[in-house]
Amino acid sequence: MEKLSNPQVTIATIKKYDFAFQKKFGQNFLIDEHVLNKIIAAAGVTKEDMVLEIGPGFGTMTQYLSENAREVVAVEIDKELIPVLNDTLSDYDNVTIINEDILKVDIEKLVQERNGGNPIKVVANLPYYITTPIIMGLLENHVPVDNITVMVQKEVALRMQAKPGTKDYGALSLAVQYYAKPYIAANVPPNCFIPRPNVGSAVIRLELFDEPPVNVKDEKMMFSIIRASFNQRRKTLQNSIVNGGLPFTKEQISKALGKMELADTIRGEALSLEQFAKLTDILTEFKSPD
Ligand code: SAM
Repeated sequence: MEKLSNPQVTIATIKKYDFAFQKKFGQNFLIDEHVLNKIIAAAGVTKEDMVLEIGPGFGTMTQYLSENAREVVAVEIDKELIPVLNDTLSDYDNVTIINEDILKVDIEKLVQERNGGNPIKVVANLPYYITTPIIMGLLENHVPVDNITVMVQKEVALRMQAKPGTKDYGALSLAVQYYAKPYIAANVPPNCFIPRPNVGSAVIRLELFDEPPVNVKDEKMMFSIIRASFNQRRKTLQNSIVNGGLPFTKEQISKALGKMELADTIRGEALSLEQFAKLTDILTEFKSPD
């Protein structure tokens, strides 16, 4: 049977099921074989791997994943797609479909049960409306994952990969780069999807670190400081932290910046992850009683 990456097969499937695309679920299905091969290659999927696919849609990428992986678990929220998937994946015997919202799935348990707790690969053409909660959920919950290789909005991929001092740099860059090494594997234009999205897309691979690249005593506080710093991008770091309701005085922040040989006027966007970690350690030390 011809694969769904052939646009004619996808069009025939739409007709067969009289399928109505749901905007609220971010449904833009891939119809480009070249892009699918790029995603599989970027994820480095092998016959050893268990792959979690988020949002299989018609099963276009699932067909490629099934051929390359040991086992694929695909989680799809839209119940209308389940009969379609049972049809398009009937020849693929290593695929399990779960009809559920990915944000409600206990992925850790899935990994324990199906992969003996060993790291899995997450591969997806993500629904763009929940890209950040999905990715941050995987990273912050320390799910055993080798790499996350996903199609996202191009602008989001650039933010994840951004370095200090650039316009795309922000809280998302720092959060992602604390857990993983990002690499943009491909830029993908709207005409590779049915229906065409209004934005450009990119495939990004996040290779998870065994250990974070920086040491910080209070990780939660560091992310609170980071969030406050970028909430008010135009303000100085000092003012942003104070306005963000964090338990530090302007004097303490000034002293901490002085210790780091940074100017009082510096903005959050100029600080690296390492500098945010150091600033957090100095500030939390001021706070704790001697
Ligand atoms: N993988 C398919 C492809 O590449 O052709 C479809 C990708 S489409 C961009 C996103 C898919 O995610 C849709 O099938 C949508 O129904 C599904 N989806 C949306 N929100 C979801 C959620 N919270 N949990 C699981 N799947 C979801």
